[in-house]
Amino acid sequence: MSEKSIEISEVGPRDGLQNCAAIMPLAHKRRWIDAEAAAGVREIEVGSFVSKKLLPQMADTAEVVAHALTIPGLTVAVLVPNLRGAEAAVEAGAHKITLPLSASETHSIRNIRRTHAQVIDEARAISALLETLPADRRPHFEGSLSTAFGCTLEGPIEEATILRLAERLMEAGCDEVGLSDTTGYGDPSSMRRLIRAVRGVVGADRLTGVHLHNTRGLGLANALAAYEEGITTFDASLGGLGGCPTAPGASGNIVTEDLVFMFEAMGVATGVDLEALIKCREIVRDALPDEALYGFTPRAGLPLGFRRAAQAAGSGSGA
Ligand code: ZN
Repeated sequence: MSEKSIEISEVGPRDGLQNCAAIMPLAHKRRWIDAEAAAGVREIEVGSFVSKKLLPQMADTAEVVAHALTIPGLTVAVLVPNLRGAEAAVEAGAHKITLPLSASETHSIRNIRRTHAQVIDEARAISALLETLPADRRPHFEGSLSTAFGCTLEGPIEEATILRLAERLMEAGCDEVGLSDTTGYGDPSSMRRLIRAVRGVVGADRLTGVHLHNTRGLGLANALAAYEEGITTFDASLGGLGGCPTAPGASGNIVTEDLVFMFEAMGVATGVDLEALIKCREIVRDALPDEALYGFTPRAGLPLGFRRAAQAAGSGSGA
């Protein structure tokens, strides 16, 4: 392993699939997760515990978690909108749960019919639930500030609002906060500014991950800016699955394959075998033939003589 490394958190089975009209069968979800873990991805957000009526794509999340837990060394993450979701996540045995809190209160009310205060109450109830569990069975609890870089309903969000919400999530018992550019409004400068500001409030070790969308093509630039600010966990989606309906041609989340290529080419180890990762696209294509899959690296192929970061560092372990 080279000195410099980051973690990729694959969110395609959650953020990608929940934005696809078609439902991926459970067997394909299992194969996809198996294949990505085998390619070296160490954290996968495998689903969300939400209303089956609202998001039938996520109806089998408990079964998906059960399967993912059989993979050694894999961190199994899920998204929950409230205490009820967290109870289901705990019962299923997820390692990590993420509660989104939309920095835009208009978005929060429109999306999940909850004010900021109500979501903070859910965070407090979830952390009280987690407190009752033995330490070795307690999932890691992240409060994720969505629409942090701007909202399609409210436009820019005051930095003071975001800092106050980050503080309140930590007070409510979250282990850490994350920053999400849900709308693809962020740019490298706003990325740096907000990461610094939030870390100034919660501490550098309590903001380690970002969740980026590529709506305006700045996803990789934003990821690089975040990396240079010390962020170590990057959400991304295989094939940028779940493209943005309001921006045709734009992928949804940043594309895992391109993100891995960027870091590995820079000598920053991701632990991921890029060729094996690119092969995972076949599973998604097979299950969802009508969904667009994005990514430059899969189309162009690896450059002649390309060496992975770990190999460049001379460890030879291929890890
Ligand atoms: Zn997202």
